[in-house]
Amino acid sequence: MSATDRPSRALARAGAVLEIDLAAIEANWRRLAGRLKPGASCAAVVKADAYGLGMAEVAPLLAAAGCRLFFVATLDEGIALRRLLPNTEIAVLNGLLPGTGGEFARARLLPVLNDLQEIAAWRSRAATRALPAMLHVDTGMARLGLGPGALAELARDPSPLAGLELRAVLSHLACPEEPDQPLNARQLAAFRTALAALPPAPASLASGSGIFLGTDFHFDFVRPGAALHGVNPTPGRPNPMAQVVRIKGRILQVRDVDRGQSVGYGAAHRMERPGRIATVAVGYADGWLRSASHRGSAGIAGQRVPVIGRISMDLMTLDVTGVDPCLARPGALVDLIDETYDVDAAAAAAGTIGYEILTALGRRYHRVYRGAIG
Ligand SMILES: *Cc1c(COP(=O)(O)O)cnc(C)c1O
Repeated sequence: MSATDRPSRALARAGAVLEIDLAAIEANWRRLAGRLKPGASCAAVVKADAYGLGMAEVAPLLAAAGCRLFFVATLDEGIALRRLLPNTEIAVLNGLLPGTGGEFARARLLPVLNDLQEIAAWRSRAATRALPAMLHVDTGMARLGLGPGALAELARDPSPLAGLELRAVLSHLACPEEPDQPLNARQLAAFRTALAALPPAPASLASGSGIFLGTDFHFDFVRPGAALHGVNPTPGRPNPMAQVVRIKGRILQVRDVDRGQSVGYGAAHRMERPGRIATVAVGYADGWLRSASHRGSAGIAGQRVPVIGRISMDLMTLDVTGVDPCLARPGALVDLIDETYDVDAAAAAAGTIGYEILTALGRRYHRVYRGAIG
């Protein structure tokens, strides 16, 4: 087998194809960076394998585009990213687990310190030189970060921070995709108060959606993730981001069924009239969530067809009664995600958000990266 026919053979056997447009991800980073107030910069959050789309492909692309600061969630993600990017700043949002300081230091990762114990643990390593770190303050989300008590203690006595090189103070918004939610303004005010109480350091409050709340939320840098990967950061309004993901599923079988025939597990769908059903090789093991059973739709040559019956592990069924049999035939690919039915639409059908759709995408897709650099 020659190198050139390998991709087409992989495509021929694929039950489903996941296309990832790297040029769109880069365009999205530039688009967000271009919206910021003067002097603010755009980091990139590439946790969970770049929201399921491949950190090894996404992170070097964004670094080449000019991104200088990356966030991951875990130490292992940070170590993997350090191998890809020897010289950029990498911060680990979940912070410093006991006993992991040596590995943080070896991989030159910045722990995002979330409480006084983590500060003390990181500082105990800083015997000879100041160790860089970031500080997360909780401004109203009650998830991660220094709470009001710890913050007040540090304001009174900042000596626990003495051995640290504070690369940033950050906080996270609970509802940035809801511009009218009063908590946004309260968190903004709480963040300003926290900054005034702490030693001077670059500040960051906004994730992707927070950028669209206005320049007051931009501070020194912003931390978008999902928006880079094409998820709408402004739900309910048109998506300002470029489409990144396309998914196509293979039709395995097409059958004619009588009125009254039940379809799939649990006999949960019953045909109300005679029709035709196409079985597609994508299921919940591929991240096509079971909660999308009986809901949502697929596209065949531009025509929408409904999902019927339950999504099973490896398969779903579509009602293709009204579709030209030359198009709805075994071997053909149907469009599960495209520009007319995007990640957010698929998420709405499954009762979830685009983030979960992307990070749930399984390992079985034939992955095609388009628009890669050099
Ligand atoms: C995940 C995360 C982000 C990125 O959020 P998006 O909504 O994907 O833009 C930013 N900051 C923190 C602390 C996070 O946990």
